Amino acid sequence: MTASFHLNRLTASAAAEWNSADGDQVLDVALWFDRCGRPQRNVRLRYHHGELIARTALPAAAPPLPLAVIPPLVNAHTHLEFSSLPEPLQPSCPFTEWIGAVIRCRRNIPDPADAVAAGLKECSDAGVLGVGEITTSDAGHSALSAVSAGTVVSFRELTGFLPDRIDAQMTILQNHIRACRQTESQDRPCLPGISPHAPYSVHPELFRAAVSACEHHQVPLAVHLAETREERELLECGTGPFRSFLESLDLWHPRVLKPGTRIRSWLQELRRLRHALAIHCNYLEQDEIAFLGRHPQIAAVYCPRTHAFFGHAPHPWQKILAGGGTVILATDGRSSNPDLNLWKEVRFLAARAPSMSVETLLPMVTVRAADALGLSLHPAAATLIAIPHDSPEALLSAAAFPIGTLISRSKRMTLSLNGRSLSS
Ligand SMILES: [Zn+2]
Repeated sequence: MTASFHLNRLTASAAAEWNSADGDQVLDVALWFDRCGRPQRNVRLRYHHGELIARTALPAAAPPLPLAVIPPLVNAHTHLEFSSLPEPLQPSCPFTEWIGAVIRCRRNIPDPADAVAAGLKECSDAGVLGVGEITTSDAGHSALSAVSAGTVVSFRELTGFLPDRIDAQMTILQNHIRACRQTESQDRPCLPGISPHAPYSVHPELFRAAVSACEHHQVPLAVHLAETREERELLECGTGPFRSFLESLDLWHPRVLKPGTRIRSWLQELRRLRHALAIHCNYLEQDEIAFLGRHPQIAAVYCPRTHAFFGHAPHPWQKILAGGGTVILATDGRSSNPDLNLWKEVRFLAARAPSMSVETLLPMVTVRAADALGLSLHPAAATLIAIPHDSPEALLSAAAFPIGTLISRSKRMTLSLNGRSLSS
């Protein structure tokens, strides 16, 4: 058997040597976290043919690299087409005006494929190996297939509030699933997903048809839900800013929404699916939180910095968790967030909810997020977080940041560093 190869410096040249050397690959690290977010200190990881074959205590004389190895980061919800924006769109309030800014911005993006490629690179540089992306064009979808590092679930967005849009949107859905399935490959998979946009932009029949199609094809579905109080008002009463907004676009029809409709009835449709994402869930009633508790396969996607950008009321994520529901974190797009660094969402939340443990927070951006998307990532794949000291609390400190990823490829573990220095 050839000699094992230790990585003992975290430089690009040392990583390249480690990636290509013969024999077992060995990594000595200060912290290793399991799928449940439980830490182990001073660990030697030994890889053979791209599999983790041993995890042992580090000999006292061997200094570990100042790293935490965590399960792969997964950013379950973003809109990569906005990745070239230098800052979020304004105004953030009222919400319907922000939606108007999004529509105008989308029309003016010079090359959506370039923006999507830039967004994927930004995710990858932030240590992310799984992405749930809202795709709105064929050009954006092609960029995902060509550039993807890690795994992307491409949720094709459906919009159509009026009934005459339903057939065309369902054709888009069928074509998207077919196109993704034709180009799926082990190396750079781009998996299909569907995203009927939101209750104020999707006819209820289109929503139900999309859920049925996702159930039939076994693909995940993501829908923006309970994002604002005004959305609830539109559903329940057919009044408010969203009605005016739809009227201004000549899209309002009084018989599309049955009076008294609740978010609960949209959530209930999702229970037919194995993988469903209810994006935002900023304004849920108690019975809807209880419903999520009984259906943990429906993940509430909380985007902390986007939530703060809009100045929403406090998010019920802790109540959802306490009720047995699933909450995962995501960045959303650069149209409402300054960047796509998922780790900053963790740090943002950790700073505001200091009583929350690593065991609670870490799965919300790793294994639970992967499960919500239906991703099965390689068990040895990992994200590397640079840490300022070796106690488990260091992971959530302001000085910790993602520095690279580890993936199994061609019977080797490939370490990719994002170029940030350990001292930055
Ligand atoms: Zn979104």
